[in-house]
Amino acid sequence: MARYTGPDCKQCRREGTKLFLKGDRCTSGKCPFDRVDTSARNRDAAPAAPGQHGAAKKKLREYGMQLREKEKVRRFYGVLERQFHNYYVKAANQDGMAGENLLVLLERRLDNVVFRMGLGASRSASRQFTLHDHITVNGKKVNIPSYSVRVGDVISVSDYSKSKDSVKALIAAMADKTAPKWLDVNAENGTAKVVAMPTREDVGFDFNEQLIVELYSK
Ligand code: SF4
Repeated sequence: MARYTGPDCKQCRREGTKLFLKGDRCTSGKCPFDRVDTSARNRDAAPAAPGQHGAAKKKLREYGMQLREKEKVRRFYGVLERQFHNYYVKAANQDGMAGENLLVLLERRLDNVVFRMGLGASRSASRQFTLHDHITVNGKKVNIPSYSVRVGDVISVSDYSKSKDSVKALIAAMADKTAPKWLDVNAENGTAKVVAMPTREDVGFDFNEQLIVELYSK
């Protein structure tokens, strides 16, 4: 299954914002965005975008802003271009606002749910955890990161995986994490039940999804 394998921080630098792709490092003070020059002269400085001309300030036009917003969301959820577009097509065919529908569809991905319930420091770590057969949905093994959860689904660490020390440590760390209200998490058992559909507010990131709708509506 194809996925991005380059440096995570490079993606944040490209988008000019923290996308929290590396787990604890993102809040440890080692993040390049937390190490920028904060002297009076450069108070607004941010890490330069990657590439030879990355440091040059570019003024984005309408298309550029729409494209960057789409890339921001796509990278945040770790989805490749074609799959992201497929999500948009599905979202646009649903009732309601296409942009919000898109974010809800992305939130419902199994790798995101595993991350939200506290199993893994980042979405990519949770994706690996899912791919390596550690997760069951309603008692059946599911190793498809894009699996879309529904209300009533019970996501759990498989019984076999629970006996491994590394997995036991992951489950123990769940208690320190705050899960969204649409997941009823049992940190002792390493399980979570989907009690409602996620909403736009549950995304918890300041995306401007309307720009993505405008981009794909051209
Ligand atoms: Fe790197 Fe995380 Fe900072 Fe992004 S937020 S630049 S992934 S440390």
